[in-house]
This record gives sequence, C-alpha cells and structure tokens, in this order.
Amino acid sequence: MVGATLVVMAQLVRDGLEVVMVVAVGGMLWAAVTRLRRGDLRVYRCARCRRPTSRGYPRCRHCGLEQPDAT
Ligand SMILES: [Zn+2]
Repeated sequence: MVGATLVVMAQLVRDGLEVVMVVAVGGMLWAAVTRLRRGDLRVYRCARCRRPTSRGYPRCRHCGLEQPDAT
C-alpha cells in the first residue's frame, strides 16, 4: 500500500511539473506575441496611405506624401 501511494505521489509530482512547464512555455510564447504586437504598433505608418514606411525618409515611399513628423 505504501509503495502504491508513493507511485501515485510520484505521478502527481510529474504531472505537476508538466503543468508548470506548459504554463512557463505558454507564458514565454504569450510574452513574445505581446512584444511582436507592440513592435508592430510602433511601425511608422504613412499619414495618407497608412502603409509602413521609414522615418528616415521625409516622403512616403508609396504615395510620395511628405511626412509631417518625419525625423
Ligand atoms: Zn504614403
């Protein structure tokens, strides 16, 4: 009986570790997705055509609009 209890407890510990691993990996993935989303929002978009362009250029590469807050 004691042996069987130990086996059950060992299985519970293994299952618990598995859950912790899944939660940790899931949390890491979620953080990565959140970072990507934030990075996507930070992409500079043209004031007229809303397409991503570079802040390094004074004019949009797509429609030629001069960017009001380009650096
Ligand atoms: Zn544009």
